[in-house]
Amino acid sequence: MPEQPEQNTPADDNASEKPGGGHGNLTFFIIGAIVAAIATALILPSVLEKEAALSIFHGIGIGGEVFLRALMMMVVPLVIASVMSGILGLGDVRKLGKPGLTAVAYYLCTTVLAVVVGLIIVNIINPGADGGAVASSEEIVVTPTDKTHLLEKLETQTGMEKEKIAKILPGLEGGLPGKEPTIWTILGNLVLMLFADNLLHAAATTNLLPLIVFAIIFAGMLTTMGKRVSAITEIISQANEAMMSFVMLLMRIAPIGIFCLVASKFGEAQTEGQFLAVIKSTSGFIITVLLGLGFHALVTLPAIYYFFTRKNPYVFIKSMSRALLTAFSTASSSATLPVTMECAREAGISRRSTDFVLPLGATINMDGTALYEAAAAIFIANLDPNVTLTFVDQIVIAVTATLAAIGAAGIPEAGLVTMLIVLNAVGLSPEYIGSILAIDWLLDRFRTATNTLGDSIGAAIVDKSFED
Ligand code: ASP
Repeated sequence: MPEQPEQNTPADDNASEKPGGGHGNLTFFIIGAIVAAIATALILPSVLEKEAALSIFHGIGIGGEVFLRALMMMVVPLVIASVMSGILGLGDVRKLGKPGLTAVAYYLCTTVLAVVVGLIIVNIINPGADGGAVASSEEIVVTPTDKTHLLEKLETQTGMEKEKIAKILPGLEGGLPGKEPTIWTILGNLVLMLFADNLLHAAATTNLLPLIVFAIIFAGMLTTMGKRVSAITEIISQANEAMMSFVMLLMRIAPIGIFCLVASKFGEAQTEGQFLAVIKSTSGFIITVLLGLGFHALVTLPAIYYFFTRKNPYVFIKSMSRALLTAFSTASSSATLPVTMECAREAGISRRSTDFVLPLGATINMDGTALYEAAAAIFIANLDPNVTLTFVDQIVIAVTATLAAIGAAGIPEAGLVTMLIVLNAVGLSPEYIGSILAIDWLLDRFRTATNTLGDSIGAAIVDKSFED
């Protein structure tokens, strides 16, 4: 048998009390970068002409895009190397049984809990029920004459191409209004998303799920082949190490990259007059989503973490702060994955867990997205005077929001698109989706951070299940 990749031992309680290790300053710089970026975004448009401000934010945005692309370019090789090396480190794919089941059960339970929290809070606050938001946000309400128009609207307003929307949810058009999808159709689509007929195409389009499935099966097979494949197994584990060193290198420029990402996005929104004005017009909805995400991230998930590990959850959350801030800045849990893996290892979670729980989690575990989709569906129902949702409708929303979140890719505003599935399932008109389009980019950042936190806590819990 080839030498097994070295495993980190889970850190003891003392070690986990020192979050961030040698990166304490870096976290501080990243927080400073975000504050400076938001200040720049708010001040520049008030002292400069619109055109000048826009071109400066556009210029700053190039720096952000470089950082984002540098993170994204690592995702595919990192996912393949880490998942394979995780399985090889176990030595036998069958050992994945219990941790694998724990991971899937955790993903599902926490997503359902997030949806329930979202539904409870949205029913209490009831945003949009007074019709105020409709009147004040009239200019951003999409009124397509033809329902299929919506796809085009989404393309222009989210800046995503058709191919990207199709990538987020294969068969989206089949789920568009007119053909209300059954839960079985959605489940069928999810199963199909696990497999790709062309691995290179999946890699080229950062379609991670089939790559993870392939990596698990392939590495599982390698573990049965012994010395005959020792060179391949060695290369995989070394590639994994090298990728992680590369992540650490990249983190040195994180404060600059994050400043550029946040300043350009917030600045462009502020210059176009979308930022504070839109926040005002949809404040009820924003408060609902933020309260829901806050409750899930600061109460539900920490309680689960404490229950399984008996450690202080807030110390753990602090040690994941660089990943959470990167998630907020990039609005992409896939792009954040390299940083999440680095932080989780530093926080003392063993590689046997981080290597497969985090890549899988970044792809299918989206608590924040699920909560958002459920809350947004009720908000949209409130805006439509012709709709009254029944209790059964709310259950359907809960189930479809869970499935739609699993199907959403870890890229910016993916949740907005898969939300169409939820709206369809209860026959809501997508016409009102326009009222959240303008604010989605901002809420996306909070739900992505929640998604990333969910993945990290999942890795800590699954790590425990290896020990038992
Ligand atoms: N942007 C989110 C993520 O990457 C997905 C979403 O749109 O909710 O996790």
